[in-house]
Amino acid sequence: MEIIPISDHLTAIDHNLLARPGVGVTYVVRGEQIALVETGTSLTVPFTLAGLERLGIAREEVAHILCTHVHMDHAGGAGYLADALPNATVYIHSTSMPHLIEPSRLLLGVRRAVGEEAWPLHGDILPIPPERLQPSENLSLDLGKGILLEAQPTPGHSPDHVAYWDRKSGGLFIGDAVGLCLPRYNLTFPVTPVPTYNLAAHRATIATLRQQNISQLYITHFGVHQNVAELFTLIHNKLEELVGIVDDALAKGIEDVPALTARWLPYPPEAPGALVARSWGEMSIVGLLRYEKKQRGIS
Ligand SMILES: [Zn+2]
Repeated sequence: MEIIPISDHLTAIDHNLLARPGVGVTYVVRGEQIALVETGTSLTVPFTLAGLERLGIAREEVAHILCTHVHMDHAGGAGYLADALPNATVYIHSTSMPHLIEPSRLLLGVRRAVGEEAWPLHGDILPIPPERLQPSENLSLDLGKGILLEAQPTPGHSPDHVAYWDRKSGGLFIGDAVGLCLPRYNLTFPVTPVPTYNLAAHRATIATLRQQNISQLYITHFGVHQNVAELFTLIHNKLEELVGIVDDALAKGIEDVPALTARWLPYPPEAPGALVARSWGEMSIVGLLRYEKKQRGIS
């Protein structure tokens, strides 16, 4: 666990996602009230709680837990955090609230999506009592001291994806809406996962965000990025490269997922980020293949 100071009212806790540093964070937003953005998985919750303790924040002080979408590394830890933080309300898109109340179907889908190698690193979900959940898609949260968080739906990566503006800094908690950027592992790419990835929505979300005046990105995977336009261009290009690779594979009728992943994300297999590149890369190839086949009416 590492504490990453950002500004007077913002801090990131590196919560050791996938048992590695530099992969996932929970953001801490401090006004008169305290909000967390992103929960990590159930396995990262102890690190987040240790981070809060290190920051001198009592568990009773946390009032809000904001999730960008229902994937395990963004909302998987929500139930355990809600259990440990007795006064916190959990926010997620209304369409995903049922999954946090009764998670068994979601867990089955995640296991299929991430594969057996990476599955044990994704943890499990503690159900959340319905009365502690609120819809996020129209959220406007005044934390006091001039700190305002506001939701912006950003579908594509998943249909339920919501990003959150920090109005004070003009920055955006962007979740996985555009893609990931892990400087420590030299990995930058869009994640287009099964089962609900939507390319048309993702392209529209990226185009919208490119028009907006975002001072900085608070990325879940990973950290603060000031070069917003540059990062969006990089990820846009990487997405179109992936579309080309998948089109080519479908034209040839060859769906060798590991080979396609290696072509899209050439990465040394022994390097420390290899599991991330392989697992999230393969999930993306499979997700876009599925989307394109559906578009073309191929089963
Ligand atoms: Zn995701």
